[in-house]
Amino acid sequence: MTDYDIIVVGAGPIGSTYAYKMAKQGYNVGLFDMKNRIGQPLQCAGLVSTNICDTKNLPKECIDNEVKGANLYAPDKTSIQVEKDKTVAYVLDRVMYDKYLFDRAINEGVTPHLGERVLDVDIENTVIKSIENKYSSNIIVVSSGPTCHTSKKMNPNIEDKHFMGLQYTVRTENQDTNYVNLSIKQPLLPGFLWEIPTSPFTKRVGLFTNGSYKESEQILKMQIKPTDTIIEKHNGLIPRYNPNKKIVENNTILLGDAAGQVKPTTGGGLISGFNCAEIASINTNKMLEEQDNTYLLNYQEEYRKRYANEFKAQQNVQNIIKDMTEDDFNYMFKQLKKYDVDRIISQYGDMDNQTPLLKQLVKTGTIFKLVPKIGVRRLKNIWKSR
Ligand SMILES: Cc1cc2nc3c(=O)[nH]c(=O)nc-3n(C[C@H](O)[C@H](O)[C@H](O)COP(=O)(O)OP(=O)(O)OC[C@H]3O[C@@H](n4cnc5c(N)ncnc54)[C@H](O)[C@@H]3O)c2cc1C
Repeated sequence: MTDYDIIVVGAGPIGSTYAYKMAKQGYNVGLFDMKNRIGQPLQCAGLVSTNICDTKNLPKECIDNEVKGANLYAPDKTSIQVEKDKTVAYVLDRVMYDKYLFDRAINEGVTPHLGERVLDVDIENTVIKSIENKYSSNIIVVSSGPTCHTSKKMNPNIEDKHFMGLQYTVRTENQDTNYVNLSIKQPLLPGFLWEIPTSPFTKRVGLFTNGSYKESEQILKMQIKPTDTIIEKHNGLIPRYNPNKKIVENNTILLGDAAGQVKPTTGGGLISGFNCAEIASINTNKMLEEQDNTYLLNYQEEYRKRYANEFKAQQNVQNIIKDMTEDDFNYMFKQLKKYDVDRIISQYGDMDNQTPLLKQLVKTGTIFKLVPKIGVRRLKNIWKSR
């Protein structure tokens, strides 16, 4: 007799969503988090495309702002504006949102274990150990975020790599709330800077990068105007996608950031994580119904089928841009303006799936006018996966 049908380690947005889905199907679920206050501290810019509506996972009260486009800035401040005539993304109150997803799971019958850090996941026996207790289950779902011991256990030969995210919540002067601002700075590549309005008078100013903390913090501070006031500072890690990472072993699976299910170019992990929680819920339900754990391998396979090509294409883009200089970007932005590429980006750009835009730029030959120094073959191979 086990303590639970399913144990979920980590009550972030993805773990809570998965736990809710399984409790809704009648399973006995235990949800563990080392924190006492879910969602805090904030470690997210909270920007998600409207595709989140497909996940049926977003109540209106968690939306701070809606944006319809972005201003993109080259290092010399040459800029282009891309937009659609409707809302393209929501800016979320991430603290409220994480709490909403957690409460929804508990209201569905999930048993909470807050303030209970999981010290070890015993993959062989499907048992977890916290400081004081041991709990057993039929399945363990590990959604404990970017630094995950179980991931290391499952993948002893793979080093989990991360980008660093730094962000300030800032009080500012009256601003246009319709656009986010994204800026390129060479030391941050392949990361970038963002300014995301949360209201007419507040915004999140942040960056993600592979570079040094000190230099990145300097760059971030330079973004803050003398008239702005920093209200809060946050930082966090963003996992780097690894196509070879194993996310299933025996009756244990990794989910969300713990599985590296994050878009490489933007570091966004909410929508892909929710979609993977859905894939996991379907396959873990089948496993429990039919007592056949090969369904867990289907979870891994279906996740790869859905995301491997897109994530690999995004990584290929990153590999190209990380070697570009500020002059390359300044030139590229001037070309973007000259050839009206903002129109193509506005039409084909999608925050979650970037291959349609890349294919269109290659098909029309536009991309070769933008970045002439880059080998044609490298560009053509951008979305090839393996
Ligand atoms: C600066 C920054 C900005 C970002 N901006 C965006 C954005 O704009 N849009 C977007 O889509 N994504 C963004 N992301 C990524 C997004 O925040 C993550 O993809 C998302 O939070 C992943 O959710 P998760 O549930 O997998 O993990 P997490 O949110 O990391 O939750 C993991 C939970 O597990 C708990 N935990 C960890 N270890 C243990 C343990 N041993 N025992 C018990 N509990 C444990 C933690 O306390 C935590 O509550 C950003 C990330 C950062 C760092």
